[in-house]
Amino acid sequence: MISGPDTLLIVDDDTANCDLMLRRLRKRGFEASLASDGRSALEWINSHQVDLVLLDVQMPDMDGVQVLKTLRQTYTPAQLPIIMVTGKASSDDVVSALAAGANDYVTKPIDFPVVLARIQNQLSRKRAEEALRESEERYALASRGANDGLWDWDVVRNKMYFSPRWKAMLGWNEDEISDDPDEWFRRIHPDDVDRVRADIAAHLDEATPHYEDEYRMLHRDGNYLWMLGRGLAVRNSSGKAYRMAGSQTDITRGKVVDVLTGLPNRVLFMDRLSRSFERARRRKDKTLALIFLDLDSFKLINDSLGHMMGDQLLVAIAGRLEATLRSTDSVARFGRNHTIARLGGDEFTILLEDISSALDATRVAERIAHDLSMPFMVAGQELFPTASIGIALYNPSYQSPQELLRDADTAMYSAKSLGKGRYEIFDADMRANAIARLQLETELRRGIERKEFENFYQVIVSLETGRILGFEALVRWKNSSRGIVPPKEFILVAEETGLIVPLGQWVLETACRQMRIWQSRFANDPPLMISVNLSARHFLQADLLQHCRAVLHDTQLSYSSLNLEVTESATMPNPESAIELMNQLKSLGIKIAIDDFGTGYSSLSYLHRFPLDSLKIDQVFVSRIMEDDEIVRTIITLGRNLGLKVIAEGVENLEQVMKLKELGCEYAQGYYFSVPVSAEGATDLLLAQKHWPDSLKTACERWPVGTGAIHRMINTEFGPHS
Ligand code: C2E
Ligand code: CA
Ligand code: CA
Repeated sequence: MISGPDTLLIVDDDTANCDLMLRRLRKRGFEASLASDGRSALEWINSHQVDLVLLDVQMPDMDGVQVLKTLRQTYTPAQLPIIMVTGKASSDDVVSALAAGANDYVTKPIDFPVVLARIQNQLSRKRAEEALRESEERYALASRGANDGLWDWDVVRNKMYFSPRWKAMLGWNEDEISDDPDEWFRRIHPDDVDRVRADIAAHLDEATPHYEDEYRMLHRDGNYLWMLGRGLAVRNSSGKAYRMAGSQTDITRGKVVDVLTGLPNRVLFMDRLSRSFERARRRKDKTLALIFLDLDSFKLINDSLGHMMGDQLLVAIAGRLEATLRSTDSVARFGRNHTIARLGGDEFTILLEDISSALDATRVAERIAHDLSMPFMVAGQELFPTASIGIALYNPSYQSPQELLRDADTAMYSAKSLGKGRYEIFDADMRANAIARLQLETELRRGIERKEFENFYQVIVSLETGRILGFEALVRWKNSSRGIVPPKEFILVAEETGLIVPLGQWVLETACRQMRIWQSRFANDPPLMISVNLSARHFLQADLLQHCRAVLHDTQLSYSSLNLEVTESATMPNPESAIELMNQLKSLGIKIAIDDFGTGYSSLSYLHRFPLDSLKIDQVFVSRIMEDDEIVRTIITLGRNLGLKVIAEGVENLEQVMKLKELGCEYAQGYYFSVPVSAEGATDLLLAQKHWPDSLKTACERWPVGTGAIHRMINTEFGPHS
């Protein structure tokens, strides 16, 4: 049986407040959807596969408890787990929801890790329900190690046996704890005890196949320990529980320390953040900043090199962050009060206490970005990860530490959408942008399903003869409400969400098919080439090679007519596997170009090992060529030494054409020749070339000044102002 990602439905009338959660759930691999009222939730559940529902209690019209009751007429709690979302102070809601068959609840404002843990907990129960037979479970319980405290509850007489180990774990002697169940419950942290009681009750009522919870227990020394509690009821023939037995395991270490990196984990971090938040409220002279860091290409590294290496990289990054913070501490004027934590996955946070201004925080962020840009050696390979960094500064309008964390996260997200590998300080507009982006993401997903895309084509011209060498495919999104959307507005989002893979495959296939049509209609020597842009994510996709093969086979285009354009940054996180992949593509005959050359970072040292065909000089350098031609000159020389074609991008006028020829550049692309045009527009260009008189020999004669301007007018790409 194939099981896809777990599907969640979030039901909440306040949709604006759900965007962050929705995005983070999707990032964790859930397929999450949103319903804004009870009725549409019921409709959705009727027509879609839903594994779990997160249900807001307070909604106009049909409230959460009504929705819950309706659902429970059809689905048992084990079939469809439902987690209620309630206001902080509404224990009535909780009671009526649990009575009506809710599996669990969380309170608003929602703390993401808490809701994530609850969701995972419910889903694993659901799975356990499906998979486990009771006998297996009982066996597992009985054979659990001697490190656990054990308990056995006589439900009828309400007496509880606690093993000596159970008592010792909490610092008590054998005779110091009675057989009253309250010896347990009254030591549970006030924030956890209701949940533990509810979970036990649910299991006694047969709503769950077993009992399991994580909660804090008060030790004799006054500290709380994190415990994992598990249990199973013993029932009479009518199903009524008369006994329940279980275990309690100390998981404190795993709870506060990230086992992989040894850094504080989210629990400990939030604890420190809360304390320093309280301190900041009292002090006027010093403030605090929260830095949120998320690696940009971690998934690529993990997928291409495996989790072991991914883990090693995380450890190395943790080490480097610690070193950076130590050194900035001694440089900067603030004290040594910082905490670095790993929140999970590739997310790290840094708490800077006692700083005097935003400048201290940005200095640290700059330093981190700088230090991370040095290569990492992991298992003999050089890796170049980059990170997007968000900064939130404390101010008195913050009500809770969670809000500070949320804003740092939003700022990080904004850094990502502005191009990754950078930092941003939170400002209020970012939340609106984040919501807009989520909207864009949803529409993009739909756009891909509905194939709302069209390839445009831009000529690549020989500067010597003026002849058309081929075209670069540039995708456009034609959305009914947004109009024609340029790629820079959606490619990054598509990358983030992985939508780039299906999109890129569509672009590749469409472009190859189109080129095959042109080749059969327009004989050219050498045959016309098609260039296709590959994003980093797509480039390192495991089945890229196979896919290219399949596309070229289906479209009957020869391998050597396809040119893949990759940026340096696509090769960066892991140059060795990029080389391997390029060699495989190369062995098929596919050509490879480095796009936007000169804007990347440090892959220069790898350049001679990449089996390339061409370099494309970034338009930034071409646009400045009349004032400063040094970089272009250097790239042309470099290309010549490596035996590569050099293509100048963004050529807009005759002066630049002449300059490029003078510098020995062979190929060019840009508005001077033509803007990107539709397939029909490109066909017109090929037709025009067919009828060029032989007397015209140079590029300037064949593409007289203004050709591009005319094309730009005919094909107003993104509206009149573009
Ligand atoms: P790029 O690959 O560097 O593409 C060149 C961009 O420069 C195109 O923008 C093109 O319209 C523009 N351009 C061409 N000539 C001139 C000129 O003379 N002056 C100026 N100012 N601009 C010129 P476009 O089409 O908006 O694409 C932007 C970027 O989006 C591309 O940069 C590429 O990185 C990405 N992109 C476009 N299509 C795809 C695609 O199918 N897949 C992927 N992964 N990325 C794509
Ligand atoms: Ca390109
Ligand atoms: Ca480019």
